[in-house]
Amino acid sequence: MSATEILALSARAATAAVAAGALSEEELFRAYLARAEDDRAAGGDGLNCFTWVAEQVPSNGGGPLRGLPLAVKDLFCTEGIPSQSGSRILEGYRPPYTASVVSALQRAGASLLAKTNQDEFAMGSSNENSAFGAVRNPWDRERVPGGSSGGSAAAVAAGLTPWALGTDTGGSIRQPAALCGIVGLKPTYGAVSRYGMIAFASSLDQAGPLTRDVADAALLLRHMVGQDECDATSLAFPGEIEPPTAERLDGIRIGLAQELASEGIQAGVVEAVEAALGRAEELGAQLQPVSLPHAPHALAAYYVLAPAEASSNLARYDGVRYGFRAADARDLLEMYTRTRHDGFGAEVKRRIMLGTYALSAGYYEAFYGRAQRVRTKISEDFATAFSSVDFIVTPTSPTVAFRLGERTGDPLSMYMSDYCTVPMSLAGIPAISIPCGLSEGLPVGLQITGPAFSENRLLGVAHALERALEFDSQRARA
Ligand code: GLN
Repeated sequence: MSATEILALSARAATAAVAAGALSEEELFRAYLARAEDDRAAGGDGLNCFTWVAEQVPSNGGGPLRGLPLAVKDLFCTEGIPSQSGSRILEGYRPPYTASVVSALQRAGASLLAKTNQDEFAMGSSNENSAFGAVRNPWDRERVPGGSSGGSAAAVAAGLTPWALGTDTGGSIRQPAALCGIVGLKPTYGAVSRYGMIAFASSLDQAGPLTRDVADAALLLRHMVGQDECDATSLAFPGEIEPPTAERLDGIRIGLAQELASEGIQAGVVEAVEAALGRAEELGAQLQPVSLPHAPHALAAYYVLAPAEASSNLARYDGVRYGFRAADARDLLEMYTRTRHDGFGAEVKRRIMLGTYALSAGYYEAFYGRAQRVRTKISEDFATAFSSVDFIVTPTSPTVAFRLGERTGDPLSMYMSDYCTVPMSLAGIPAISIPCGLSEGLPVGLQITGPAFSENRLLGVAHALERALEFDSQRARA
């Protein structure tokens, strides 16, 4: 097989070729190493999606994913390999252990190809908040890939890896998947272990797959789910993740969330989503409006809760225990303050201040307590909606990929990127983004969400729609 043929294989096709002996594990891995090297050699014209790349072909033994290269977001701890969560404060940190989900995939046979660039501590929607510099979108290198799993999304879209792991706290898998024209799935909260993921907001963080198609997402997720005694919030997945086969949507009731259909959504995005819904109807789905009355308050609640949790999680970076330490401090307090001053970027500091304020005595009830009540209301809205529909559909991102630098000076417009994805995160329910068309020549994502642990059915619907939409995801790989 030529390198071009190898790189064009989906992860599923590559495992099949390895199993059939048509392709050796080494050839497969080397094709991707060479591809990563080409991108690195392009210097400033490259995508800047990797922060670390394997030096040689690892040997991981057998397993169903034997020989499959895997790119993993920087924030997953990988033993002996730099894991900085996109931050200067973790400079030089090489964890003594590997995140449970990464070791599970390695046990299944996957081999670590690269760590991917990300927004610092997963805070961002454009991958411009990284100590390693911004990532470029392979569809248009003057535009952002989305964030915070922007390195993973750009790498998959450009064919620099068969697939990748990301994490999603308020949209960080789905939004970059949408902006890069690939598939991204945020699982049910608890379905995948968080052990060894460098924490942002622990009640929301969840790992998930970024892949070229829905069947690859199912294959990767199959080997990720499961209860882990090292993560007390992880749960046993009922049954297994099965390969999706659905081709029709007969009898499936799809709800259109009224509150998430208009706010700041570009006309081209609305058009692509409506066209996709038309295909869903042709496949037999019944469309009906549903109401999520509290969804418009999700973003406000999220920007109290996530920073509150982050302010606590990030207290551990003090220059003593991990990574970077400011030099020449006169005493301990100065060492702490200078380390945090120099080690954290502006967005992370903004979140720590917001979170500390929201949790301070006297304000706690007014901010944190109220945001928690909004969170409950949002979960209840979904529960009510799922009594009359099977799934709910929205655009994933209100806009297509925006220009590098366009929103960096305006945090609120950056936060709006997650308007449609944050409600599902607060409710802990699974949601997938699939590419559904183009607007201005750039990919548009369609988000489908269902009740907790409905992953198999969700993947089925996404698979049927993907087939009908025939989105050409190869386009960004040239
Ligand atoms: N963009 C959102 C934020 O900045 C979500 C990030 C995420 O899901 N990790 O918080």
